[in-house]
Amino acid sequence: MNPQPIDISDALRGRGLRVTTAKLAVLEWLAEHPHATAEQVHGGVLGQLDALSRQAVYDVLAACVDAGLVRQIKPAGHPARFERRTGDNHHHLVCRGCGSIADTDCHTGHAPCINPKQAHGFAVDEAEVVFWGLCRCCRDEH
Ligand SMILES: [Zn+2]
Ligand SMILES: [Zn+2]
Repeated sequence: MNPQPIDISDALRGRGLRVTTAKLAVLEWLAEHPHATAEQVHGGVLGQLDALSRQAVYDVLAACVDAGLVRQIKPAGHPARFERRTGDNHHHLVCRGCGSIADTDCHTGHAPCINPKQAHGFAVDEAEVVFWGLCRCCRDEH
């Protein structure tokens, strides 16, 4: 189920972003390759847009993250990853071996899905949950 270009255009306009071929290419590619690094996105769209610089890809990703069209995840020790699945507070399983990432649904579907025992007056709006371990491939190697 890939969003059609027209839907992406609407989504961009709906968030007040200008529709550009760079944004369309990045968002379309990312829809099919979740949890990609900026580097991978750049490599992925290069086939379609030869002139697109790495910086342009970073800029597009940053704008889309700000607009809530793309979610950025930053597992400790790994480069940031990007995905189109936003707004459902889903969590990630990250492999300590190869860095592969898988989605897992949130128990409640909205942040924060766990609350601190002592809030110390903080208005908590998010709990960052990352499940670390070894993926099936990496486990098979041991
Ligand atoms: Zn692995
Ligand atoms: Zn995800």
